[in-house]
Amino acid sequence: PASSKAAKQKGDPVVEQTDDPMDIVFVSAEVAPWSKTGGLGDVVGSLPIALAARGHRVMVVAPRYLNGKSDDLYESAKDLHSPLTLDLGACGEQTVSFYHVHKLHVDFVFVDHPCYHRAGNPYGDEHGVFGDNQFRYALLSLAACEAPLTLNIGGYRSGEPPGFPYGDRCMFVANDWHAGLVPAYLAGRYRRNGVYKDARSVFAIHNLSHQGVEPASTYGNLGLPDDWYDPLSWRYPDWASINGPAVNILKGGVVASDRVVTVSQGYAWEITTAEGGWGLDGVLKERQHVLNGITNGIDMVEWDPSTDEFTAAHYNADDLSGKAECKAALQRELGFDVDPKKPLVGWIGRLDHQKGPDITLDSVPEMAARGCQFVMLGSGDANGDAKYEAQMREHEEHFKANYRGWVGFSIPVAHRIIAGCDVLLMPSRFEPCGLNQLFAMRYGTVPVAHATGGLRDTIQNFKEDAQGKERGTGWTFNPPDVPTMMRTMDHVLHVYHDKPQVWREVMRNGMGKDLSWNKAAKEYEQIFKWSRLDPA
Ligand code: ADP
Repeated sequence: PASSKAAKQKGDPVVEQTDDPMDIVFVSAEVAPWSKTGGLGDVVGSLPIALAARGHRVMVVAPRYLNGKSDDLYESAKDLHSPLTLDLGACGEQTVSFYHVHKLHVDFVFVDHPCYHRAGNPYGDEHGVFGDNQFRYALLSLAACEAPLTLNIGGYRSGEPPGFPYGDRCMFVANDWHAGLVPAYLAGRYRRNGVYKDARSVFAIHNLSHQGVEPASTYGNLGLPDDWYDPLSWRYPDWASINGPAVNILKGGVVASDRVVTVSQGYAWEITTAEGGWGLDGVLKERQHVLNGITNGIDMVEWDPSTDEFTAAHYNADDLSGKAECKAALQRELGFDVDPKKPLVGWIGRLDHQKGPDITLDSVPEMAARGCQFVMLGSGDANGDAKYEAQMREHEEHFKANYRGWVGFSIPVAHRIIAGCDVLLMPSRFEPCGLNQLFAMRYGTVPVAHATGGLRDTIQNFKEDAQGKERGTGWTFNPPDVPTMMRTMDHVLHVYHDKPQVWREVMRNGMGKDLSWNKAAKEYEQIFKWSRLDPA
């Protein structure tokens, strides 16, 4: 068990050590840098490292996606030569292999199976989402339950041969619907046979809008016992294009886990309301006594303005001159006037209704009228983003001096926008946590965001206090529509143009915040402890 703390290496940051080391197993559809379409990948790429630094033994299990584009990322992960045949109900016997790399004291384990070898992003391609995702992630979840029992990586140390399995006293962290079957398998398949009796599971919700819902007839494909149907049973909502009985994997995760956690306190509350519950508010309300919110941290090494490998210059809160260079470089790169006085506004995200790309695009004429330069970096979404892309192109033609739209997923461009812009716009309709506002604050870029979920929790809205002193780390507005956003922008631009001292203070307030993962890791530890004291 977890008594063997991760061996410390020279150069490791000094982090307070846990007094209660555990074996922790993260299960996720995404893990940066290997796979990432959004914040889930970031979190699973960072939080495990922060927990390992505190002395826990930590494994991350994710698919080995070979898509023909980023396959070389997986080169360092070696085949453990421990193929395993899993019984997946009506889907029959499926053989997976495991690849492994020990990095930053974490065991990253990649599950290999032909179903993960396809072009596109983890979930789909240009034709839409893959039709067999339920199968792909049931397989991931079952393989992840087996990994701690069978893989001899428990004693892994750099340069030494791996030794023994983690064993069955694990703390599983199942992330989003893709891993929602983990708690159900633990209870319905393993515990019944005396395995994982002392294991616990935490179900982490990063985004409730995807739940893994399929017709009830697919239940038999999941490899769960017949009497486990109820925790997953579901009906399609009225507005869905299909109706009839269904199975909902995320619901199963919420019901069968020992603790439920989501990525901000604001979102933890919102998902128990009819407006934010996506039909699961009743189920989540019933689990409210085990539901907590923990705000995500950020990778302070990848996102550091004083060392960023992608930006034109470096800077910190004491010397912001490098930020002006980053802005000029970005203006040049985008073909805008290189003018320090012109406000440069950015937007980064998936082209998904959630993120308000429509609100953003509809505001472009008004932004241009106010003299703003505006850049959007939008990653395509398998669910029909063509209309946004078309509008981006139209705006580029009409507002040559003021607008650039960039369709694609580019980490270097994201860094240059975060560093070079004055303002980052986030009119997301809902936002479980949101990471870009955190990156922005770290880089002295002022977030202007809809007051929702994690955005409301993490951005201190600008205002004057009783002494007439202005404070805040950005601006929040509500509701998320163009008139409200532009009224807020008028205030933002007033401070930007007329009160440069105050503007710099807002920038520095954001840069001074502790956004590190260590803080969140400690809070996760607390939840793990509660899950053992108080099995739900
Ligand atoms: P979500 O998980 O809902 O997409 P988050 O704000 O939690 O939103 O996380 C988004 C992450 O994905 C951030 O790291 C952000 O920089 C990154 N990202 C989103 N779109 C792009 C893009 N087009 N190019 C590069 N990175 C992107």
